[in-house]
Amino acid sequence: MTGLVLAGGLGRRMGGEDKGLVELAGRPLVEHVLDALRPQVGTLWINANRNLDRYAAYGHPVVSDTLQGYMGPLAGVLSALQRLQTEFLVTAPCDAPLVAPDLVSRLYDAYISNDADVAVATDGRRQQPVFLLLRADAAPALESYLASGGRKIDTWFSQVRLAEADFSDAPDTFVNVNDPDERQRLEARLLSTAGSRSAAGRDQRTGARMTNGHDPLPAAVDPCDVPGHGHRALRLDEARSRIIAGIAPVTGQEAVALSESLGRVLAAEVRSTVDVPSHRNSAMDGYALAGGDLPQTGAATLDVVGTSWAGRPFDGAVGRGQCVRIMTGATLPEATDTVVMQEHVRFDGARVVIEAGHHARQNVRPVGEDIRRGELALGAGTLLRPAQLGLLASLGVGEVVVLRRPRVAIFSTGDELRSIGEELALGQIYDSNRYTLQGMLNRLQVEVVDLGVVPDTREATLRAFQSAATQADAIVTSGGVSVGEADYVTETLERHGQIGFWKVAMKPGKPIAFGRFGQAYFFGLPGNPVSVMVTFYQLVQPALRALAGAHDPDPPILVRARCETRLRKKPGRLEFQRGVLERGTDGIYTVRSSGHQGAGVLRSMSEANCFIILPLEQGEVEAGTEVEVQPFAGLV
Ligand code: AMP
Ligand code: MG
Repeated sequence: MTGLVLAGGLGRRMGGEDKGLVELAGRPLVEHVLDALRPQVGTLWINANRNLDRYAAYGHPVVSDTLQGYMGPLAGVLSALQRLQTEFLVTAPCDAPLVAPDLVSRLYDAYISNDADVAVATDGRRQQPVFLLLRADAAPALESYLASGGRKIDTWFSQVRLAEADFSDAPDTFVNVNDPDERQRLEARLLSTAGSRSAAGRDQRTGARMTNGHDPLPAAVDPCDVPGHGHRALRLDEARSRIIAGIAPVTGQEAVALSESLGRVLAAEVRSTVDVPSHRNSAMDGYALAGGDLPQTGAATLDVVGTSWAGRPFDGAVGRGQCVRIMTGATLPEATDTVVMQEHVRFDGARVVIEAGHHARQNVRPVGEDIRRGELALGAGTLLRPAQLGLLASLGVGEVVVLRRPRVAIFSTGDELRSIGEELALGQIYDSNRYTLQGMLNRLQVEVVDLGVVPDTREATLRAFQSAATQADAIVTSGGVSVGEADYVTETLERHGQIGFWKVAMKPGKPIAFGRFGQAYFFGLPGNPVSVMVTFYQLVQPALRALAGAHDPDPPILVRARCETRLRKKPGRLEFQRGVLERGTDGIYTVRSSGHQGAGVLRSMSEANCFIILPLEQGEVEAGTEVEVQPFAGLV
């Protein structure tokens, strides 16, 4: 996802001033919008036609209109679309400093669920046509609209399939600065909220740098200020696509030996520098001969003049009426082009007899059959599995350039948690979540930074967040995301980071907090051990794969099975129960519950080999009903 801040206008109502550079609360307007969009997109661009150096100083590419003459925002959109390297472009104007922290995910949801060409934000009454989401392939349509003299966005909309994303609950998104008066009013408002925030001990977010030397905390807006924000439970698939749409893969690269590269992600494509195979060779053990010596009818008798072994070719000449004994993988002697399997010949003393019915060039692997010199072997973003290691080895590639491993910091929250080896007092339990998390993360080829157990205090929670964000690309925690007295995780994220959402309509697993803290992606999983595992596999694992830069994650493997046990279930949430899947002698899969389904009961998780996935609207499941099952094999 590329975000484009539209700052290419003439700023007529601002007296011709370059609006993006007009200051608001001590910072240029464009900076407010960049900060708000940065955590929501992988790539950020600025569309500007003046003061290009000043815009470039933000470190993001600056795209100027390819069409001359300040043709309005669509010209900026088109210029970005023409250059786009991601699938999607999302746009916001440079003068809307309070843009919603979930602008992108809401536009994306509208786009996907309506199968649209373009998604546009609405404030409930009117469309806000500079808040757009489009795909790269919208460029030709937009280009011809502009070429035909069209300028107005809403007129263009009538020519495309349009989806609307409703922001009536987040009207601040559209608060913009058109003239000096509006600027002054908004500044007064911003400064007064900043004042009340600092009184409450919050960050002022006026460009103050975090202790980690990373960029300032994103977003000029505290998402808690947005009315109604985050109060709706998201569907799991919605939550997953929102998370993934906002993730930018790691960019660091390193060269590793092929033998060390299992599970890593290719940073650049690999093209073959050789033909594989490099020599014509036999696909069978048998006899190599010239196709012209095959009998059309009856049989032909040939002299055997030598043997070609794999790695030790026959170097003599093969004449008409002659053949060579040949092994699988051995080079075909020059005058031969056909192999007859040894099972298909008869012997007449030292000679071989071949019957009719064979074809010239059969059983021969031509040069480059597997891959030709210069051909693409593997694309950038390929996850290296055993087959890919073999393919690279067959090309003679001994070292590969891969993306660096994402670093993931984990900590558990809870005053009741003790580490293994310590005595348990009344009410205390061992911290099991960190071990499950370690296990799940170790399978993903990420570097794990274990920050231990964090007590339930505001200060300790903030310190843990800060320490994690300086060391890691992503933070995964357990516990403390409910709304209990001692739950500080969500609060810390709200006050000092960016919260994306905190409710997903799934069981177990509600509540869960997702957002950003500093530059790190944040996943606040519930405390209950089974919830940790379910939410990890359903939300965190796909997100970490995207963070690692792996393209095309495998589709989830789901099977239908007859449920042998009755399952308790209330409609309203997508439920992941734990089950034991078996394949009967008749080939039919059956599944049964693995026991007590409490979110804290690890035993039924440990005895299970699959999730039984019961849809949102599903009620009780009677024994004998068909259900959908996600096997752990391949998932965990
Ligand atoms: P919380 O979300 O913090 O309210 O925790 C919900 C439940 O999960 C409580 O019963 C906690 O004791 C339990 N829990 C939280 N963290 C852990 C952990 N790291 N290991 C085992 N159980 C935990
Ligand atoms: Mg707790």
